[in-house]
Amino acid sequence: MPRTALAGVLALQGDVPEHKAVLVELLGQERVVAVRSKEDLANVAALIIPGGESTTFSRLLDATGLRSEVLHRVKDGMGILATCAGLILVATQVERSRSGNDPKPLGLLDVSVRRNDYGRQVDSFEAPLEFEGLKGEPLMASFIRAPRILKVGKQVHVLALYEDSPVAVRQENVWGLTFHPEISGDTRVHRLFLQACKMF
Ligand code: GLN
Repeated sequence: MPRTALAGVLALQGDVPEHKAVLVELLGQERVVAVRSKEDLANVAALIIPGGESTTFSRLLDATGLRSEVLHRVKDGMGILATCAGLILVATQVERSRSGNDPKPLGLLDVSVRRNDYGRQVDSFEAPLEFEGLKGEPLMASFIRAPRILKVGKQVHVLALYEDSPVAVRQENVWGLTFHPEISGDTRVHRLFLQACKMF
């Protein structure tokens, strides 16, 4: 991967500044972009889809033309780190909600998910996780209106579990986390992902 390869944060909505700050710390300002249009994706080799509201993301992906461009670039080898609402967006299957207001997922990661399954905003919590490939102390993970992964496909590799449910998974270049890794000050997950995308 050339040194000019960029890391991007999908900046349509959600936890954009926090992820950008981690990327800037690891790669430097000049290698980090906020992605708002198809054109912004041009030199991006590693894309973060942050937490936020998956129904809003889904709508904005269509409105900006980014849906088809992201699908195309992932087939070309671009890496994706999708967290929380991001994970819902990359899943193959999202359980229908009672409201019927559901996102249309990209179908890049063979998991089925149920939104908000750990409770409401007030039920948000932190938990230490053993995360495959991370040395040292357990990773403190923040779960904020998190989705639950109900089922994983055969090609999906589980990187971390919480109470017997997968909370971090990977299918080749697409990574999905049910929690937020960007607010603890621990940059190890971002680093591991960027290494897998050959950004270092
Ligand atoms: N509950 C949100 C959704 O379903 C996700 C929450 C988050 O990203 N922190 O889109």
